[in-house]
Amino acid sequence: MAGEGGKVGTMRYTDTVIVGGGQAGLAMSRCLAQRGLEHVVLERGRIAERWRSERWDSLRLLTPNWQSRLPGFRYAGEDADGYMTMPEVVSYLEGYARSFGSPVEEGTTVRTVEPVDGGYRITTDSGIWRAANVVIATGYCDLPFMPEMARRLPADVRQVVPTRYRNPGELPEGGVLVVGASASGIQLADEIHASGRAVTLAVGRHTRMPRRYRGRDILWWLDAMGLFDQGAEDVYDLEIAREQPSLQLVGRPDHATLDLPLLESRGVRLVGRALGTEGSRVFFDDDLVKHTAGADVKLATLLARIDEYVVQSGLEGEVDAAEPFVPFLWPAPAPTAVDLRDEGIRTVVWATGFRRRYPWLKVPVLDARGEIRHESGVTPAPGLYVLGLNFQRRRKSTFIDGVGDDARELADHIASRPSVAPAAVVA
Ligand SMILES: Cc1cc2nc3c(=O)[nH]c(=O)nc-3n(C[C@H](O)[C@H](O)[C@H](O)COP(=O)(O)OP(=O)(O)OC[C@H]3O[C@@H](n4cnc5c(N)ncnc54)[C@H](O)[C@@H]3O)c2cc1C
Repeated sequence: MAGEGGKVGTMRYTDTVIVGGGQAGLAMSRCLAQRGLEHVVLERGRIAERWRSERWDSLRLLTPNWQSRLPGFRYAGEDADGYMTMPEVVSYLEGYARSFGSPVEEGTTVRTVEPVDGGYRITTDSGIWRAANVVIATGYCDLPFMPEMARRLPADVRQVVPTRYRNPGELPEGGVLVVGASASGIQLADEIHASGRAVTLAVGRHTRMPRRYRGRDILWWLDAMGLFDQGAEDVYDLEIAREQPSLQLVGRPDHATLDLPLLESRGVRLVGRALGTEGSRVFFDDDLVKHTAGADVKLATLLARIDEYVVQSGLEGEVDAAEPFVPFLWPAPAPTAVDLRDEGIRTVVWATGFRRRYPWLKVPVLDARGEIRHESGVTPAPGLYVLGLNFQRRRKSTFIDGVGDDARELADHIASRPSVAPAAVVA
């Protein structure tokens, strides 16, 4: 039965140990429980820890509430088109864990996972487990990435990453440079600018998105058209697909769009991609127009596909008329160097994506970049799995709404493997 496990001396055994109690770990737990497979979820903090302690105060999900479907669970509130606040996400995931009695052990940090006798020994800060299978669900957005140039900035410049940022009130007085213009970067630039500070936003490759199109949430269209279901085998280059920047979206009660033209019109200064630093000077590529024009082309193509889909699926009478696409055209001329000291910029926010580190994983499955080698979540080490990575199996793999399909497939894989007999554990 799911979650009972067994205890031999200080060693505990189960069929599957899931490392991480976020949405991926919980979805995995639900799928194993449904198949009657014994397991435990080990979480170093509390359920949904990252949504509790690594997100800023004003953040809401950028996916609408209806798009939070997990195996055996869905949003049942009254605001299906709204966007959850962080406390709401936490209670949603807590409710999910409760709904099937997920065997989560909170406050348990996994220190090592190592292969032993055809299974795994999992050493935690509160004891040792033996299991036939381990599912790594420690999150794609693990450690904020800071480029090398960050190390060379003067010590009096405050450097902040999105997982530590809470609100503009915590930043030192003065201007702010935000590096990175995907979902986090544009939201932080907007919020910090609204607090009365001068903000410069360094923009690289990005994915421009309107919040709504033809009267529906843009994510409703992507969902209906099956774009989130696109599989790893359907894309020309999976590595490139995995490197796609996140969608420039914000979830606000007024369903407003947040994009670069709007930020510029509000007074945020846009510059090109950050290239390097020298003393208090930061250098930017002269590539702003290249990136804004590239994003416009992609967005115009997407909107045309939506229009085609409307015709093909006979939705013309049901949705609003096509809205004219307004390209960004010419952002204001952007400097290629800014002296932080001269301009009174005292904070740099690095919204430059995430990396993953697995120092506790003593199984030889990491590639040269330190990423887990896997095929749709199945690693080369028998019984070792990973869940929740970007485009792991489908475009939606990292989303709350997407991890469930991957979890179901991994649960089927696990169900086909032999379990750990207690006798083997005692030995
Ligand atoms: C700012 C931001 C906004 C996002 N907004 C959305 C959104 O609107 N909609 C959406 O669908 N997705 C969104 N995502 C993407 C995704 O849903 C989140 O990254 C989500 O947290 C991923 O869930 P997960 O379970 O895969 O990993 P995580 O939530 O990262 O969970 C991993 C868990 O593993 C635990 N852990 C790590 N190491 C260990 C260890 N050694 N031992 C024990 N436990 C460990 C951590 O404490 C953590 O609780 C957003 C991501 C970010 C960063």
